[in-house]
Amino acid sequence: MSTTLKAVRADITTLALDAIVNAANSSLLGGGGVDGAIHRAAGPELLLECRRLGGCEVGEAKLTKGYRLPAKYVIHTVGPVWHGGGRGEAELLASCYRRSLELAAAEGIQSLAFPGISTGVYGYPVEQAAGIAVATVRATLGELTGIREVLFCCFSDSDLAIYQRLIGDAGH
Ligand code: ADP
Repeated sequence: MSTTLKAVRADITTLALDAIVNAANSSLLGGGGVDGAIHRAAGPELLLECRRLGGCEVGEAKLTKGYRLPAKYVIHTVGPVWHGGGRGEAELLASCYRRSLELAAAEGIQSLAFPGISTGVYGYPVEQAAGIAVATVRATLGELTGIREVLFCCFSDSDLAIYQRLIGDAGH
């Protein structure tokens, strides 16, 4: 089965998919950027569930419900802080995408959207991060079944252009 890969420009909190991915911090207790937007849109029940999870390691992922979001689930993953590239950032970022997809497949999630993990406050250069995102999603989907659609949710036109170039016209 082939999975559709798409880049869209959107506020990820508006997407009515099985799951959206949150670029969380290791406490899982909320933060700024996309994390803050997801908690605001989901409502306070999300924080209550996150408190019970006991945090999350960098490169790992944990699942909660979506509460007031149109998405049924939130997959919380913790990206690496960019320190110049010599501290395993690429492997850790790839792990975020891989672990999120593995968790999604294990839960029967068929459609999900990723934000640009680590490319905001955490400072990961967006071109490099997007390359890792697309390559890791493609490679991981080859090993999993059941996921039908993966969106790369971009918050700016310049990010969208980068992802569109990487995905090309093939869409998979
Ligand atoms: P990190 O701490 O992992 O860098 P940020 O939330 O600061 O996470 O940024 C990650 C990416 O999410 C950035 O590209 C940022 O522009 C984008 N972003 C911020 N808010 C939203 C939103 N509501 N929907 C989609 N993407 C968002």
